[in-house]
Amino acid sequence: MSEIKMWGKEPFWGLGHQFDPQWVLSDAQKGLQKDLIDLCQSTMRENAVESDKKLLYPRKNFQALAKAGFLALIVPKELGGMGQNHVAAAMAVETIARYGCPSTAMCYTMHLGAVAAALLRHHDNPALQDILKRLDQDCLVGTLSYSDPETGSHFWYPVSSSAKKVPGGWQVSKKASWTTSGGFADWYIVQTTSPDFNGDYSNLSCFLILGNEVEADPASWDGLGLRGNQSGPLVVNNRIVPEDRLVGPVGDGASSNDECVDPFFLLCSSACWNGIAMAMIDIAKSHTTKKKHVDVGLRVCDYPTIQDYVGEAIIDTNACRLMNFSMAQAMDAATNDCDWSIHKDLTVLPRAQYLPWMWQVKFAAAKNVAHVTDKMLHACGGTGYKPGLGLERYLRDGKAGWVMGPTNEVLRQFVGKYALLGMDSLDYWNQAINERAIQNEVKKMTPEQKKDLAEKLLSEAAGKAAQ
Ligand SMILES: Cc1cc2nc3c(=O)[nH]c(=O)nc-3n(C[C@H](O)[C@H](O)[C@H](O)COP(=O)(O)OP(=O)(O)OC[C@H]3O[C@@H](n4cnc5c(N)ncnc54)[C@H](O)[C@@H]3O)c2cc1C
Repeated sequence: MSEIKMWGKEPFWGLGHQFDPQWVLSDAQKGLQKDLIDLCQSTMRENAVESDKKLLYPRKNFQALAKAGFLALIVPKELGGMGQNHVAAAMAVETIARYGCPSTAMCYTMHLGAVAAALLRHHDNPALQDILKRLDQDCLVGTLSYSDPETGSHFWYPVSSSAKKVPGGWQVSKKASWTTSGGFADWYIVQTTSPDFNGDYSNLSCFLILGNEVEADPASWDGLGLRGNQSGPLVVNNRIVPEDRLVGPVGDGASSNDECVDPFFLLCSSACWNGIAMAMIDIAKSHTTKKKHVDVGLRVCDYPTIQDYVGEAIIDTNACRLMNFSMAQAMDAATNDCDWSIHKDLTVLPRAQYLPWMWQVKFAAAKNVAHVTDKMLHACGGTGYKPGLGLERYLRDGKAGWVMGPTNEVLRQFVGKYALLGMDSLDYWNQAINERAIQNEVKKMTPEQKKDLAEKLLSEAAGKAAQ
């Protein structure tokens, strides 16, 4: 921890490494972190301002990341990637969010989620292998398109999407209410109901869809948060795609989600929220140590109230960072350091066991960033509203954490229900029958109402049986 954090040729103007959990990083990862901080200083932070001003997708930042090899961060070395692990993924997103551009960090989160979903099932799939090998060379940005306009934040329930087998391939239809990098990504992992769908919404499949196969209207995106990330609606309009665009076997959607999409999204988005919280503290340190009140001869940082704000923000944020890095280490341990060859056996799904922990990680990070961004704004006073300070971008971007699916309302309910009633009670696809509720409602009925209901149910059952 003795190394001095530099910002170009000067020592960094925010918090030094004494407040970073550097011990979770290998020497190689500390080197990558330094490279990323340099890239943020020279390029990405400035581009974030331009993205905001011009409502511009951060393509330039992705080009810089690709040039330095970061689009293939977790891709195995045999496929030309860095072969890095979960800890490196969390470190990279946190670093980009903190020192560079939080919108780029969000887009990079979705990219890593898509890369993970592709790596999980690339072993016998030439289309996925081709993309994975060219990520950096051709700057191929990926993303995840899951959320459905009819089911909102229940992104695991794609009622407006479908897929069907056609000669030589699949006909894929997807309506997504939100897709980060929508219209700008070069490739998408989309989730639909399976080609053999028969009403069971847990039967999901994933497809690889290319940039020229989607319809999006990025010009209309003007979200409150993460401005540059272009997260508007997206449509795949009954596109016929070749056989090898199916990611994994038919019906692999739920496994893919539990093993890769959710773990990587929760890990990296939490890293993004933690990075934003640290960025706010960095700016607050820089501002409050300079601003003076001439009447009392004190700087803003000399007030104990401000010291308390900063102290609490560091303590809470570092608790979230350590929780996230601890889960990254647990997933590294469970996967032989993020070795994708273990998934040649389709039944090997070691990350999925940690989902309830990852829910807790995301809840804590998104809750913390919402609080810290408020407190750092308070610490900087009205000046925090001025774009020059750079707080407003982080404040706005940080607020997206709570509402991004799985939302914090959903997550705390998942965790509480799991603890009190067991995992089956979560009933993602609305299949479990709540006998207690039925008994209770029937109890309130008159004999006549019971008879009417029984007749209605019998006729419905007879109709179903006749089908
Ligand atoms: C900036 C941004 C980028 C995004 N990028 C992507 C992306 O790349 N890909 C993607 O697939 N999606 C993406 N999303 C979508 C996101 O994951 C959610 O699906 C979306 O934010 C939900 O918004 P909604 O208006 O549909 O909320 P709703 O689902 O209508 O929720 C409204 C409220 O109801 C609450 N609620 C919902 N269900 C329950 C429940 N069971 N119990 C208690 N409360 C509940 C919610 O928590 C929320 O408070 C993005 C969203 C944002 C804001």
